[in-house]
Amino acid sequence: MSVNGAKDGDAAGDLKAPIGLLAELTHRCPLQCPYCSNPLALERVNGELSGEIWLDVLAQAAELGVLQLHLSGGEPTVRRDLEDIVAQAARLGLYSNLITAGVLLTRERLQVLADRGLDHVQISIQDSVAANADRIAHYAGGHAKKLQVARWTRELKLPLTINAPVHRQNIDSLPAIIELAVALGAHRLEVAHVQYYGWALENRQALMPTRAQVLHSAELVDKARTRLKGVLVIDFVVPDYYARRPKPCMGGWGRGIITITPSGNVLPCHAAQSIAGLAFDNVRQRRLKDIWFASAAFNAYRGTHWMREPCRSCEFRELDWGGCRCQALAFTGAASNTDPACDKSPDHAAFTAIALTDSSRPAPPFAFRRPRAAR
Ligand code: SF4
Ligand code: SF4
Repeated sequence: MSVNGAKDGDAAGDLKAPIGLLAELTHRCPLQCPYCSNPLALERVNGELSGEIWLDVLAQAAELGVLQLHLSGGEPTVRRDLEDIVAQAARLGLYSNLITAGVLLTRERLQVLADRGLDHVQISIQDSVAANADRIAHYAGGHAKKLQVARWTRELKLPLTINAPVHRQNIDSLPAIIELAVALGAHRLEVAHVQYYGWALENRQALMPTRAQVLHSAELVDKARTRLKGVLVIDFVVPDYYARRPKPCMGGWGRGIITITPSGNVLPCHAAQSIAGLAFDNVRQRRLKDIWFASAAFNAYRGTHWMREPCRSCEFRELDWGGCRCQALAFTGAASNTDPACDKSPDHAAFTAIALTDSSRPAPPFAFRRPRAAR
């Protein structure tokens, strides 16, 4: 499908249906990870979409051509209608992935979710060492509960991904985290260096690893991939601050993924609301298909028409799509500038220097969302 009047390389000339929908069902979460990518100002429970609206949105997504549904948050299991949402996904033939911290699940509820058609579970862990994991998540007993939920997931024969955000306060545990994923019977492990948006930006100095630590972690992952071939797939995400080239953020703005916030705003990426001046459509007012193909926010940075130099004439412009617009705005003051993670950006040297400075200083205490609410 294409958008009327759009040309190749323009806003949406070769635009196809999105493959994935990231449904942020809520921003509520019992954990307080200091790198949480949710916005600093969380959406409130009384603004959340009803289950009825979500069921309709999923039907619209399937009609549009979406294949994969990622149920996320916050913590999606705080929603009591999660079972209905999962059942609707199964009815529509959407592959459903529950992205959960795990701490609120019981075996009975997981069984019901599996019976309703849940296809996959992704559980985040903060460390392999329980005391440090619970300190980082600001939630006592959380790590042990996560391991239990991971075991139930496998007992119920659901495929399991372990997601391990890494940073200077847990990176030494990486070998043990890999072994833990194997022991839990995970099919996939995501070793994701923290990306510095949302709460992670607030806690950047407390989280930033040294360059040597990042290089060492890449070596460990390479060796583990070879050793565990056929046992565990390991994805590895490098921190932008130590990269030479940016990642194609979300596979390119408005190219393959739709994010819907708890209150129904439709975004090209989960951090896009940080870009002041972009108005986002809401599923309460506009059909998803119309938003995907024709909304001003999706077309603003789609393709290459918006690029300035050095991206505009760069050979990689249709590979990384200029990197991340939110990071370009946050660091350079303009969302249409080159992502400073790119070494062709005039801001790259200053960007890299921040990582070297932060990682060379002692780590300050974490800033938590609810500092007094530790359990
Ligand atoms: S990153 Fe942590 S605090 Fe944020 S939603 Fe996930 S589990 Fe909750
Ligand atoms: S200049 Fe732009 S398109 Fe080229 S590699 Fe850097 S970010 Fe990518």
